[in-house]
Amino acid sequence: MCTHLHVDHVGWNTRLENGRWLPTFPNARYVFGKNEFDYWTEQNAKAPVPPFVDSVLPIVEANKAEIVRNDHQIGDHVRILPTPGHTPGHVAFTLGRGKDDAVFSGDLMHSPLQTRYPELSAKFDVDPAQAAVTRRNFLERYCDTDTLCCTAHFPSPSTGKIRRRGSGFSCEAAAGN
Ligand SMILES: [Zn+2]
Repeated sequence: MCTHLHVDHVGWNTRLENGRWLPTFPNARYVFGKNEFDYWTEQNAKAPVPPFVDSVLPIVEANKAEIVRNDHQIGDHVRILPTPGHTPGHVAFTLGRGKDDAVFSGDLMHSPLQTRYPELSAKFDVDPAQAAVTRRNFLERYCDTDTLCCTAHFPSPSTGKIRRRGSGFSCEAAAGN
């Protein structure tokens, strides 16, 4: 599952073998969000986007891609939470049966500073205003719940639970981590 299609989130989708990009995991299905896939298809038509060309399109060509809408689920345990802003089709993945035991937040935030100040957007955000709204909504949704938030770019352990802090939030590492 790819939260979005930036270079550092698709890089292990494929590997180069004898000059050809092949799926790294030949038995896997790769899940891409349709809005995200459509956005990068459009960008790639204007000017080649190398990570899309070498790490996404070869998966589609190998018939290993599932390009899904936001109501897609994998079994009873994996759901999509749309979180646009960082990229137009960015999604988080929630895991757990009937409730979100964990959520993979992708790049909807890059630094713990953004939990304290959700309005701060990173320069990589395609739509900084939308990203800020999405971030605050996401943090509010999980604030003071038991959901383990698994971030992509926070310092180790990079996981924690969202707690209120002033007018913002914090991501508190679980005891023992
Ligand atoms: Zn990104």
